[in-house]
Amino acid sequence: MLTDYHVHLRPDDLEATPAAEFFTEENAARYREAADEAGIEELGVSEHIHRFTDALQIWDHPFWREQARDDLTAYCDFVRSTDLRLGIEMDFVPGREDRISNLLAAHDFDYVVGSVHFVRHNAVDHRVFDIWEEVGDPDRVWAGYFEALAEAAGSGLFDILAHPDLVKVWGEGRPTPTRDVRFFYEPVVEAIADSGIAVEVSTAGYRKPVREIYPAPAFAEMCVDAGAAFALSSDAHEPENIGYEYERAVEEMRGWGVSELALFERRERHLKELG
Ligand SMILES: [Zn+2]
Ligand SMILES: [Zn+2]
Repeated sequence: MLTDYHVHLRPDDLEATPAAEFFTEENAARYREAADEAGIEELGVSEHIHRFTDALQIWDHPFWREQARDDLTAYCDFVRSTDLRLGIEMDFVPGREDRISNLLAAHDFDYVVGSVHFVRHNAVDHRVFDIWEEVGDPDRVWAGYFEALAEAAGSGLFDILAHPDLVKVWGEGRPTPTRDVRFFYEPVVEAIADSGIAVEVSTAGYRKPVREIYPAPAFAEMCVDAGAAFALSSDAHEPENIGYEYERAVEEMRGWGVSELALFERRERHLKELG
């Protein structure tokens, strides 16, 4: 069994017109075809929450205000009219747990991918609002990111913890922490073990400056030791990246001791044999 759950039907381009171009039967068919070619049985989509006007009920960050244009109900209705699983990529916003929970409960998602892209108002993977400009010190940047991630993992709001060490995205383009990185992973692994959230293995890392899968092998092995479940995704924003570098990812996962994948339907989890 192979899955690709963290997939975006529309590009990040602000000028895109999703209802006309991307949330369409033709586009869904392009994604399904790419998945079939890659031998992926379970395909789901998880559009960014900040794309939707409803997101502004949760948070009013200027980046979200600029991006929030699409209609969440229309997206859900469209995906339900296809054979794709219905997911959403939801940011963790500390202090807004009730609002997040209410929004999630209002839709019948198959799964919710929980992400940390921002630490307070600073972005870890975006050049605007760049955390590295405001915070700078790598130990502080990493500590802030992983504290937020541990809170997200333990919140009980999400089914899958997205790209769990996204803070490394820039690779050698940013300084690395002086502390042993396991120090940063530990509280997250504990929260993963307590909450039972599945850990996303994301091949997007291979395409980013860091050129490494999310999570890093040392992090993944700590999750395995803690008994975590794993989900597999490409974070594709176009059909060409569906199942991106999956052969390499499956080999890495087997090396970590992972033999099963988490599957989701209406927020119920099942495990199936990987590969
Ligand atoms: Zn993300
Ligand atoms: Zn994504």
